[in-house]
Amino acid sequence: MKTPSTYPVALLSLAAIIAACSPKNEAILDAHVTTAEEQSKLTPDEVLQQFKEGNQRFHSGNVTRRNHNEQVRKSAPGQFPKAVVLSCLDSRVPVEDVFDQGIGDVFVGRVAGNFVNTDLLGSLEFACKVAGAKLVVVMAHQHCGAIKGAIDDVKLGNITAMLENIKPAVAMSQDFEGEKTSANTLFMKRVAENNVRNSLRIIREKSPILNEMEDKGEIKIVGIFYRLTDATLEFIE
Ligand SMILES: [Zn+2]
Repeated sequence: MKTPSTYPVALLSLAAIIAACSPKNEAILDAHVTTAEEQSKLTPDEVLQQFKEGNQRFHSGNVTRRNHNEQVRKSAPGQFPKAVVLSCLDSRVPVEDVFDQGIGDVFVGRVAGNFVNTDLLGSLEFACKVAGAKLVVVMAHQHCGAIKGAIDDVKLGNITAMLENIKPAVAMSQDFEGEKTSANTLFMKRVAENNVRNSLRIIREKSPILNEMEDKGEIKIVGIFYRLTDATLEFIE
C-alpha cells in the first residue's frame, strides 16, 4: 500500500514517460491530407497506381500509420479526394484500408451488391465533376451476400426489390459452364464480376457527364474484384 506522499512522485514519473514518448510517436505518424494543388496535378493513371501500391501495402500488412486526429483537423476546411469507390456494404471490405488511404483521400459510396442507381450516379458525378476526383472504382468482393441473395432469388422485405438491381448479372452469367448455384464459389465470382460490368455499362450509358470526362481522359473508370481471403485485387475487363 502506497502512502499518500508517494503519489506525486508516481504521477511525475508517468508524466515524464508520456512527455518522452508522445512527440516521438506523433512524429512518425502520417498526418498529410491531399491538397487542392496535389489533386489538380494528379492524373487518373497516377491515382490508380497509388491505389494499387496502397493495396499491396494492405495485403502485406505494411499499412501507413496515420495521425487521424491531425488529419481530421487538417481536412475539415475542405476536401480534395483522389478517387470515388462504389463498394458493397460488406463489413469485411474496409475501403480506405483496402487501398491504404487516409481521411480526405477517397469518396466511398456503399450499397449491398455495389450496383448503380440514380442516387449513386449523382454521387459519382458529384465526386468527379464537382469535387475533382480522378478515378471511379466499382468494387465487388468474394463471398458477397448480396450476390448470393440474387442467385438464390431471396424474397424478404425491401431486400426483394434491392436484389432486382443485381438480377441482370445473374442472367448475364447463364453461359457459365458448371453448377450455377450460390454454393459454387466460381459461379458466385462470375456473377459478381458481371454485376460490376453491368454497373460500369450503366455509368457510361446513363451519365453523359462521367462518359465525357472519361472520353477526355479527365477520369478513369475501373472495375475490381476484391478477394477477402488474401486482400488482393483483380481488375475486371
Ligand atoms: Zn457484398
